[in-house]
Amino acid sequence: MAESFSLQFSPEARRAGDHVVSDDDYSIRLGERIRVIRRQKRLSLQDVEARSEAEFKASVLGAYERGERAVSVPRLHRLAEFYDVPVDQLLPPADVEVVVEAVGEEPPAWLPGQKVVIDLVAMVDAVGPEVELIRRYLGIIQVKRQDFNGRVLTIRQDDLQALAAILATSVNDAAPRLAEMGLLRPATSS
Ligand code: C2E
Ligand code: C2E
Repeated sequence: MAESFSLQFSPEARRAGDHVVSDDDYSIRLGERIRVIRRQKRLSLQDVEARSEAEFKASVLGAYERGERAVSVPRLHRLAEFYDVPVDQLLPPADVEVVVEAVGEEPPAWLPGQKVVIDLVAMVDAVGPEVELIRRYLGIIQVKRQDFNGRVLTIRQDDLQALAAILATSVNDAAPRLAEMGLLRPATSS
């Protein structure tokens, strides 16, 4: 049966290279990645259900995205076909250490002259009234670039104007505000 190819492995810890990765963590990260791609495609769970003619039910896809339900490899391939992305784009990045290290650290400050590098991993869990609008705006850029690396997105200085409007700040305060919200990655000067 297809589900036996599940990407949600046993509850035991799994050894990947030098890192020990718990299977629950992996499922959660896989789900986050699947959600990022859906959001980049600007589809709701219900849109996916409708457009896939109920091949991917909203409730089941939601459970995959929350890491609550195992997704089989064939299903993951079908989902990649549906989203029109290479299947590896649905997999979480291999080096989990970076994500783990970021937890509990002070968000990096942003200094004028630095590139604005959005932390797309942090965006997944971000909450707040402006976050959905920021997501939509970044989603447009990703689709235009066809850039689905899913970890970072370097945006133009010009884009700070739109983000300032969303955040109700001045243009100069937009990047520092994003940094305060923990949504920027440290970057070198441009
Ligand atoms: P465009 O502005 O006509 O840029 C065409 C191509 O020139 C881009 O294709 C990219 O390969 C290159 N390019 C332009 N500016 C830069 C830059 O500052 N750095 C780098 N490394 N390359 C640059 P691409 O990436 O496929 O983007 C396609 C179109 O999507 C762009 O056309 C633009 O209309 C839009 N776009 C892409 N990224 C952004 C962004 O960060 N902000 C905004 N506002 N629009 C973007
Ligand atoms: P970057 O590629 O290192 O570019 C740094 C700055 O050089 C850009 O700052 C922009 O002022 C200028 N520049 C580079 N390539 C072009 C170009 O083709 N056309 C024009 N008009 N200017 C260019 P900016 O706009 O603030 O962008 C910051 C960073 O955002 C870029 O660093 C790049 O990493 C990313 N980016 C911006 N636009 C695009 C794009 O269209 N496609 C892609 N793939 N990346 C972009």
